[in-house]
Amino acid sequence: MGHLLLVRINKALFSGVFLAFAVFIGALLPKFAFAAGIADHFVFPLNPWVGNTIQHGEEFSAGLYHVGTDAGFGQPEGTPVYAVANGVVKESQERSGFGLVVLIEHTLPESAGGNTIVSVYGHLSVGNNMVSPGQEVSVGQQIGVLGNTTEAGSARPHIHFGIHKSAYTGVWVYYGHVSDLALIDDWYDPAVFIPEHAVVDDRGPKIRLKHLRRSMVVHDVMNMDVRVKDKTSGVASVVVKLLNKHKHHSQVIQAINPVETPDIPISYDMLEKKNGRWYIRIIATDKVGNTQRKTIPVFKNSTRVTALPPVL
Ligand SMILES: [Zn+2]
Repeated sequence: MGHLLLVRINKALFSGVFLAFAVFIGALLPKFAFAAGIADHFVFPLNPWVGNTIQHGEEFSAGLYHVGTDAGFGQPEGTPVYAVANGVVKESQERSGFGLVVLIEHTLPESAGGNTIVSVYGHLSVGNNMVSPGQEVSVGQQIGVLGNTTEAGSARPHIHFGIHKSAYTGVWVYYGHVSDLALIDDWYDPAVFIPEHAVVDDRGPKIRLKHLRRSMVVHDVMNMDVRVKDKTSGVASVVVKLLNKHKHHSQVIQAINPVETPDIPISYDMLEKKNGRWYIRIIATDKVGNTQRKTIPVFKNSTRVTALPPVL
């Protein structure tokens, strides 16, 4: 009976620990899943992006206005076509006069408006369908190849590339041209949009210890000024006060009264490494979910508190 009870307690303890761990991991997951799918930078669907003929908004035939850019003329059938940003495939199917058409939905980072858009890749090879609806793709990932003359709508192999301004609804609105001039406004001009959203930000913020006020050590309080710089989130500064509670015994250091800017959440914790030195670990996350950590030595473990030079 006692043995059984012990087993039960152990099981309960184990499941408690497991639950706590699961909650901890669960708290981390949404941020990373979010970061993976965000369209934080764009590339052109062909590399190199050459052979542009019909531009966005051009009246290429009487009363018909092009929505998107035709490019790749002069490139052979079979030329690789790439996803222009991180996103989710919504359609990949043959359409009359359009060859294989791939639609990819993208969510822009908050810094770029946070809205959801759809990129359209037309005249691809039906026999080389490389993606399917629901599939997550990364920026620069090959999604197909240029189709033949028939698939190119009786023209030389090329891509029709458009960027629709709203989220995918399942309704087919992804024509290569419109007759109603007002509908052009539903589309971005790829020649403008792609270069504007080409900024690469796949790195976390840069964390620097800007200033360590030694004078404060006399009063057993030290101000630590941490400056964080990030491409998409801007600049943030945080002041962490380090309080040395028990000067003559073991050193207990608390980080109090942090001043944060909301664009870059900053957290910190104190660590004591084996060599007896105190360190503070600064953790900063940018708008697209990239996290950077920096461990900075703060005090030497002696009866007199000594500020160490910052390691940058
Ligand atoms: Zn076109």
